[in-house]
Amino acid sequence: MIADPNLEVFRKSIGPQYSPLPLSAINANRNDGMLLIQEYVRAKASIHSARQPAISEGKIPDIDFYFIENTKANACAFEMGGRGYIGVFTGAVLLTRDLFYRMLSHPEILPRVGDSGAERVGPYHSQGLSNDYQDLLDGRPPEFKLEDVAPRDPNRRAYADVLARIALDFLVYHEFAHIRNGHCRYRNAITGTPFIAEHVSNAFGQSSSIDPLTSQVIEMEADSFAAHVTFWLHTTDSYARPLDYFGARVSDWCFTMMSFFWMWGWGANLSRLFQDPYPPPVFRSHGALTLARDIAADIAGAEFGAKFQEFGNLALKLARDAVKKISGGAEDPAMLAFYSVAKNVISAHWKTIDSDLKKLAYVTNL
Ligand SMILES: [Zn+2]
Repeated sequence: MIADPNLEVFRKSIGPQYSPLPLSAINANRNDGMLLIQEYVRAKASIHSARQPAISEGKIPDIDFYFIENTKANACAFEMGGRGYIGVFTGAVLLTRDLFYRMLSHPEILPRVGDSGAERVGPYHSQGLSNDYQDLLDGRPPEFKLEDVAPRDPNRRAYADVLARIALDFLVYHEFAHIRNGHCRYRNAITGTPFIAEHVSNAFGQSSSIDPLTSQVIEMEADSFAAHVTFWLHTTDSYARPLDYFGARVSDWCFTMMSFFWMWGWGANLSRLFQDPYPPPVFRSHGALTLARDIAADIAGAEFGAKFQEFGNLALKLARDAVKKISGGAEDPAMLAFYSVAKNVISAHWKTIDSDLKKLAYVTNL
């Protein structure tokens, strides 16, 4: 086996607590092997296309992509020696697939998709949301596979696969944006560490901290890029024309964003606004949908932009119902109060650092 020097840089950077899972080490015979291989290939292709000179003016460094063998929902991006690195925890891939499989294998969730009469309720449907796949595995028989929570109806399964793909594309483009938009370089300039992870972890050399509001701005900017790209990908053809059933595709995307972010955690606590390095996930899905409304108006006209509210509200209702059915409750009463304050605080802070961020970005246009 030829040693991969970039893999060694990656291994060293993520620290001894974590192990990379390179493509060569993914055994197709393990339960989730084929799925991980597919996701690996897709992530590489997404990064490759987003680095294309026509899009990025050839400015973005080479980027390596690796999985990290860990059941938590997490991902990271950093730069080292003139290269970019993106790591995605296997847990993020499996949790996302598991979430949409459990939703579509429940006969009362999105009952009009495919043949919901083929589905049966199982004990895994009441396992709730978690951002650690081990929590879900612990509550299942040892021989249980991801396959065992998948929808029986092939159309419902295919639909769940589409939603999971939107969510995982979003994650990869989010990490890509941390490199593209100069976030890693910016963090390095301030703290001496070019490392950005999606959950605080001392292992990632993030003990040298950055101002929490600055960190939140960086996360929101990476979300904006990922929302932009995934919305276009799912709703338009390669000539940026709206696909057939544009409205339904907009709803799929909104449904996915809300479900995906809720999986990362609930709650929005205003008293933590100046302390938490990450915006609450419920706030981030709200931000992504707000951005998508403007993109929808660009694609399909101002009239559709106004109609977007209906699709967004319907998707919110459907996603809430879906999450309620698998977790018994999904309420965030503090969300609106949080949003009305936080959006102003974060955008004011954004203005103060925007020009410094842009100086270190490889590409500043969208
Ligand atoms: Zn991030």
